[in-house]
Amino acid sequence: MLNRNCEVKLDVLADGDTLLDETFEQFRHAAQHVADCGWSTNPANIETNKNTLNDATYDDVREQTDLVANHVQAARSLAAEALDSCKELYFEEDQPISKPTFRGSVIVYDSRTITFNDDHCTLSTIDGRVTAEYVFPKDTSNTPFETYWNSDEWEKSSATLHKRDDTYYLHVNFQQEPETDTSTVENGTVLGVDLNVDGYLAVTSTGAFLGNADYLNHKRDEYERKRGTLQQTGTRSAHLTLKRIGNRFGNWSEDYLHRVALAIVGEARRHDCDAIAFENLKQIRERISNGKKFQQWAFKQLQEFVAYKAEDHGILVDDVRPQYTSRRCSHSACGFTHKENRRGDEFACLKCGKELHSDYNAARNIGWRLVQHWLKSGAGRANCQVALKSGTVNGNGDYSPAESIGQTGSPLTSPPL
Ligand SMILES: [Zn+2]
Repeated sequence: MLNRNCEVKLDVLADGDTLLDETFEQFRHAAQHVADCGWSTNPANIETNKNTLNDATYDDVREQTDLVANHVQAARSLAAEALDSCKELYFEEDQPISKPTFRGSVIVYDSRTITFNDDHCTLSTIDGRVTAEYVFPKDTSNTPFETYWNSDEWEKSSATLHKRDDTYYLHVNFQQEPETDTSTVENGTVLGVDLNVDGYLAVTSTGAFLGNADYLNHKRDEYERKRGTLQQTGTRSAHLTLKRIGNRFGNWSEDYLHRVALAIVGEARRHDCDAIAFENLKQIRERISNGKKFQQWAFKQLQEFVAYKAEDHGILVDDVRPQYTSRRCSHSACGFTHKENRRGDEFACLKCGKELHSDYNAARNIGWRLVQHWLKSGAGRANCQVALKSGTVNGNGDYSPAESIGQTGSPLTSPPL
């Protein structure tokens, strides 16, 4: 399912604003009640399971508020997600956390609590429905309104209501069925992608070497050094400079990762892939536990950019366990796995003698692992395979040459150091 968002200003009719304001407050109360209930000072004990939270709070919230049942559930989901991100922040990012607090500035609507009409919508409140007219910008050309709002292809699915400076805004979520339903493709071709903290940032099973992790690290070190000096200076102007170079580095690195992500998706499209496989981020994090937070952030960011871009083309993005992907021989049906197979950048199989770049070998194994997962889970993919430089290899290690494959994309050239 493809998702897009678009925000529209609302003109609330009659005395609707009083009802909406009270609904904001009761929705806040409901979400807070659930957050209080699920919270624990011991992060391991924070409850995030929606059913458990529902059982523990539903009756109380119904009694304490006049919210309709769907709003009670939406508030509970909002609180559960907030608790979940606290837990993630603590365990994954090592950040200090505090109990989520809701400020009463949002109400979540689903298809049962909002009705979309051509020029207005009706919204559930604590006491019946309120009508609000859309206030569109004067010129909607080249805006999300033109692309999604009046399109037959996009369907309004849900929305959140916000209030800022006494004005109501509706944040609408649009959905579209992707052209290919990726969960049922019968002939799944997988692009395996290996990510690295040094050397090439990303290497694909089709032999594309993309981005330069050393260059990214170098730029980051340079930024850290400048930041250190400015922090010691401690003046107001140093503080402002610090902020500026921080933003500039943030934009630069996101842009760099974005371009690598585009190159990965381009590679998948050129080879008619239905899926892109990465190593599981949590497990990579264990493997590079001595790696920097920045590198972990970069991997996460890159995978998110790829997932977002791939969605547009109906390409699935999935992850696999990374264990042994660097030690296993990816040549045809060999599969020999040994620590000594790999020496730095070079992979030379001790059994069959095949020699490959070790990141390229790992990328092929990552693709292979997703194929194995599909075969074992009976995902209905009768004929799935890994995309290679020129051709594919299936789950049994049988190689099929490509009939004709367009020119492989030139690797993203790295700027000179
Ligand atoms: Zn081998």
